[in-house]
Amino acid sequence: MEAKAVEGDAFFIVTRGRSRKGFCRGCVGRVEGETPSGELLGLVYNGGRPKSRGIVRTENTCPLTRHQAQLLLFVTTPSKRLELLCNAPLFKAICDLSQDDVVVVKHKKGPQPGRVKNLMQIGRKESDDELHMLGFEVEFVDSDHTLSSKKPVPLPMFNAADIIRVVPSASVPLGLHWKNGQYGALNKKAVTRISSMPSAGPTGNPRHVKDGKEPRRARGPAAAALEVGSMVEVVSSSGVTVYGVVRWLGVPLRKTEEWAGIELDYEVTGCSDGKYGNQRYFTCKANTALFVPVTKCSPDSRFACSSMGPETRRSTDTPPVPSFDDSAEYAPPIPESEALSLLVGRMKGIQGHVNSCYLDATLFSLFSSSVTLDNIWQRPAEAEQPITCSLRSIVSCLRRQGFVPAESVTSFRKELGCNTFQTDEKDPEEFITVLFQKVLCIEPLLKLRSRGETSQGSYTFQIIVEKEQMGQVPTVQQLLDTSCLSSDLKFEEVPSCLMVQMPRFGNKYKMFNHIIPSTELDITDLLHNSPRECFVCGCLAQYECFHCLPDRKLQPGRIKQYCSVCNTQVHSHPSRQGHSPKALEVPADVPCDTPVPRHVMQLFAVLCIQTSHYVAYVKYGPDPNSWLFFDSMADRCGDDQSGYNIPEVQACSEIGIFLAQPEEELARASPSQAPELVRRLLCDSYMFLYQNPATPSSKPSHEE
Ligand SMILES: [Zn+2]
Ligand SMILES: [Zn+2]
Repeated sequence: MEAKAVEGDAFFIVTRGRSRKGFCRGCVGRVEGETPSGELLGLVYNGGRPKSRGIVRTENTCPLTRHQAQLLLFVTTPSKRLELLCNAPLFKAICDLSQDDVVVVKHKKGPQPGRVKNLMQIGRKESDDELHMLGFEVEFVDSDHTLSSKKPVPLPMFNAADIIRVVPSASVPLGLHWKNGQYGALNKKAVTRISSMPSAGPTGNPRHVKDGKEPRRARGPAAAALEVGSMVEVVSSSGVTVYGVVRWLGVPLRKTEEWAGIELDYEVTGCSDGKYGNQRYFTCKANTALFVPVTKCSPDSRFACSSMGPETRRSTDTPPVPSFDDSAEYAPPIPESEALSLLVGRMKGIQGHVNSCYLDATLFSLFSSSVTLDNIWQRPAEAEQPITCSLRSIVSCLRRQGFVPAESVTSFRKELGCNTFQTDEKDPEEFITVLFQKVLCIEPLLKLRSRGETSQGSYTFQIIVEKEQMGQVPTVQQLLDTSCLSSDLKFEEVPSCLMVQMPRFGNKYKMFNHIIPSTELDITDLLHNSPRECFVCGCLAQYECFHCLPDRKLQPGRIKQYCSVCNTQVHSHPSRQGHSPKALEVPADVPCDTPVPRHVMQLFAVLCIQTSHYVAYVKYGPDPNSWLFFDSMADRCGDDQSGYNIPEVQACSEIGIFLAQPEEELARASPSQAPELVRRLLCDSYMFLYQNPATPSSKPSHEE
């Protein structure tokens, strides 16, 4: 199929993107041309009638055959069309329906089995631009006899989305009820039965006759469901899975078997714009056309897995085996250069299901791009428990395919042990503690020492401050400094990963309207028994003063420590005479005048909460603008019972641009005037995740 559809026979459905003039998600249109920048000029239908013309980006559409477009047009709601489209195997089976195929349709009495009797054309075609919609006349199967009677009443008619199951054709065709003329039940709509509907013969074939074309010859099982417009995935020789839509099928020059021309979801170096060899088979954006033998293609598992309704899940005790089980071997974190192409889009990231957002957001933050946990979490695969293997396969799937279906997370939640993890709303710190302790078997990331006491372990750090101790708009650095100093806590060593919880309780209470993210966290002055610089002169500090912390004349919010000379001087000021600076335990043999090395940790993710729902911001590389926003339940396909969540990952370089401003500017910025994703980061932050750029120091707790 050529992209420049001169013959007017290329159709599409808008699958994603913002609503634009004339187009919205679920709109069906006909391709009328292509702009030089690769956008589609299309005619949008309302029912079978052309409604308006518009432009839509090719990558936001999915190509349809005329037959598919006609079937989808009779489905009145756009969301039902997309839902059906996402269920690729079912949609494929519906497109291939033959006379007397048994189907199960939605009915007011509940699901009803019936036989497809006729394919119906709906609408009068008054101009070439009009399109007949297609529906199915279905005869219900009676419980007493095989078929319900010979009554001459019109058979009920159903659209493609009414069909919830297709049962393979019966071996013996039964009596047909071909009729002509008007279909009474539909007001004023002209309905014609078309006799081109293939009839299933005694052996149940052929099932591939369409649009008057020759039936395709039989293919291997992997390719059985392939046709132009199918959404497929291909595993490349390097093990990476790529996704796309079949644009061409056939035998290329100098080949003997059938190949598929696939338009990929994103650019891949070495791919073409639709040419293979010197021959053009279709047209698409440069570097997005991939040609492979059809046997290498399989249906896009992201849609196949996700379209399983909860009914399917409930019917078995053990969830279905995830399709990616064999890829459970180690996959490295997604490099910065590949993160956008692999992760950005709808149906990306980790698919949410029943309050799983706390877990989806945490896993995405910790594992998508960060190397931190990989450095800590190095255990031989044979020493792992089943739950560790489940986590490893979730991580591998995320890193290889950019998408983890809800089923995998659901089974992982079951393995976490406590029932409440399966269904309840939880907070990330609860999950993190279980994850690190039970699944990863890592000893506490933080070793905290309160003065005079032995150290205690922890996985996350909860900020505890009084509101009055802080300015209106604190930074994470200020909150950490103040919290450590007022609770008299020090870190025993530089942690490999520091997860700082903001002073708020879920969605019920937050101490600050907004908090400035510190992209770097300097913990030099929070380390126990480590040399520190005098705040004033830079010499080795010997005293620390908690009361100087908020001093407006002395950079409020920063920790103050002094050499003995400066300590005396600073505290000779009348306003500071009530202070009680504490002597520091200075390690022996530290030269007094060499600069103290700084220990700086880097922000790599932020978990945010808004109306009980957790989302994540992730920094996917060293570039300051390399930020992603992830929501495991960004959208929903279908209703509460049978639908599923659509996870989405967005690039949000605006975070980097915003955070690049000087701290004083940041403190003055008004969240309500910032871009929406910046506003959410400022106002909804729940936990900031920092990593140590140097070699991590934590070790597994059970060394065998
Ligand atoms: Zn000094
Ligand atoms: Zn002081």
